[in-house]
Amino acid sequence: MGMNTVRRVLVTGALGQIGSELTLGLRDRYGADNVIATDIQPDATKKLSSQVPFALLDVTKQENVEEVITKYRVNAIYHLAALLSAVAEKKPRDAWEINMKGLICVLDAARAGKCSVFFPSSIGAFGPSTPLNGTPQDTIQRPESMYGVTKVAGELLCDYYFKRFGVDTRGVRFPGIISNGTLPGGGTTDYAVEIFYAAIKQKRYTCFLKEGTSLDMMYMPDAIKAAVSVMEADPGRLRHRNSFNVTAMHFTPEVLAAEIKKHIPDFAMDYRVDPMRQRIADSWPNYMDDSAAREEWGWHPDYDLAAMTEDMIAVLTRKHQEGLF
Ligand code: NAD
Repeated sequence: MGMNTVRRVLVTGALGQIGSELTLGLRDRYGADNVIATDIQPDATKKLSSQVPFALLDVTKQENVEEVITKYRVNAIYHLAALLSAVAEKKPRDAWEINMKGLICVLDAARAGKCSVFFPSSIGAFGPSTPLNGTPQDTIQRPESMYGVTKVAGELLCDYYFKRFGVDTRGVRFPGIISNGTLPGGGTTDYAVEIFYAAIKQKRYTCFLKEGTSLDMMYMPDAIKAAVSVMEADPGRLRHRNSFNVTAMHFTPEVLAAEIKKHIPDFAMDYRVDPMRQRIADSWPNYMDDSAAREEWGWHPDYDLAAMTEDMIAVLTRKHQEGLF
């Protein structure tokens, strides 16, 4: 995309945890008329459709993706629609259909419509044979979850469309995303969001991952910043494209609980381990090395554990007082 071209952005899966906030971030940056939110479900609460144009779109329908791109003269796509890790384990065939067919439909439509594409990969693209401490940018990727299979294949497919067809594909490997807007859609890191709602509402939380399980995490404002920055990065500086490791913090459940206790002293946590999600978490990095993103497009997060926790508690306490949960 030329430097002076106005970005006209399509967001798929826009009603999800990330999409519902990224869409508003994109609107603030590029203007409400230049962002088109889409999802397979209608926007029942009008959360986005009162802010930006909204259309129903099933990403597995090639023609529909192309129609929306043409109708709204889109030149950049944030492709977020997917099934997440815990859901994909329960419905592997659906995960393949939505995550892979959805992606190839978007890539072919992008090729035809000359659009750039943002594809969010995940820490789920790693597996038990990956070095899990300081996980390098370029390393072994043999995930054993269905979600991971689709994310590695997605990274490769995006690279393929760039090299073979010149589609400007870019992306990051997101860690667990912590947010206070839309609830997470069934991932392995969801505990790090649920814990805040539970701490504020009942001062107790039962964690589905066991003590000592270290995972990378990021607060939503940083996730939005990463997605926008990588898409706006000078292509001449990019040696990688579709799978930049990005992280902001890593912690275990007990470390997060201790941080919350600084604000809510009588908070208590116990454990009831979900073996499926524990197995997935154990196969993901304890912490990643994100120096490639820092070097190639200036990535740096704004929120560490303390700053994220303080903000989450402030926002959710207000929402709880307003009777929103
Ligand atoms: P989510 O589950 O909250 O939202 C996904 C959205 O996609 C939902 O609104 C759903 O209705 C929609 N959708 C499902 N099938 C569709 C279809 N066929 N066509 C169109 N829309 C469809 O997910 P999220 O947490 O917002 O994640 C967005 C992306 O980021 C996904 O690709 C996910 O793998 C990736 N990611 C998320 C995290 C995280 O912690 N949330 C971490 C790493 C990567």
